[in-house]
Amino acid sequence: VLVYDNLRKLYGDFVALDGVSLQVNKGEVMCLIGPSGSGKSTLLRCTNALETIDGGCVLLDGQPLPSDERRMRKVRQRMGMVFQSFELFPHRSALDNVAMGPVTVLGMPQQQARQRARRLLDKVGLADKADSFPANLSGGQQQRVAIARALAMEPEVMLFDEPTSALDPETVGEVLGVMQQLAHEGMTMIVVTHEMGFARRVADWVVVFESGAIIEQGPPGQIFDHPTVERTRDFLGHLG
Ligand code: ATP
Ligand code: MG
Repeated sequence: VLVYDNLRKLYGDFVALDGVSLQVNKGEVMCLIGPSGSGKSTLLRCTNALETIDGGCVLLDGQPLPSDERRMRKVRQRMGMVFQSFELFPHRSALDNVAMGPVTVLGMPQQQARQRARRLLDKVGLADKADSFPANLSGGQQQRVAIARALAMEPEVMLFDEPTSALDPETVGEVLGVMQQLAHEGMTMIVVTHEMGFARRVADWVVVFESGAIIEQGPPGQIFDHPTVERTRDFLGHLG
């Protein structure tokens, strides 16, 4: 589905991505790990063109990402993004948060969008919270609403940027559970995470970043049990 070919991203003189080549196939879960500042978020932001790129390319189903904003919006609709901070609309109910995209972006009738939203809230285990406002939901519940909201646009790919990093430890599991379920249903996912247990269980492929480059990649068993690169061992060792 997604191919990165020698992708480069600069911020001024600073090289944030230094020739990254990767492929994510349909139905695969790829986890990106690596130290702070290594370029993981930048890669996600280049994937849905929240950032311009300075070299190489990103191909979605063989087509390079367009550069004009109108066509880019179309491409962005095919990708769901979930951030560390949930970014729900505070003055809208959980149901409205999920139903809004299909109505405003896809022009779906209210009734149908709300039906879809109910089904998705049910899927993430929040059928009983449809009328709650974000402030009255736990962090884990808000993040599950955010996932439902992204799914409401029926994306082909889901991009997660440290979706559990801002959560209380007791609510991390419920979010990872929803993500694991999505993975088992065959969703194509790129997940930036520090949750090594999740990466080991769910990822098909783990990619280790450092200083804007891939230093090692492979199936989770290899990366976690037999890393061949010293700096991967250091990084995993630091996590304890
Ligand atoms: P973290 O684990 O802390 O989220 P990361 O791997 O996601 O780190 P990025 O956010 O991709 O790292 O940042 C990569 C590098 O690019 C960092 O050194 C960061 O300071 C720099 N950077 C990111 N965004 C900008 C920006 N808008 N302007 C200048 N530099 C930036
Ligand atoms: Mg980041």
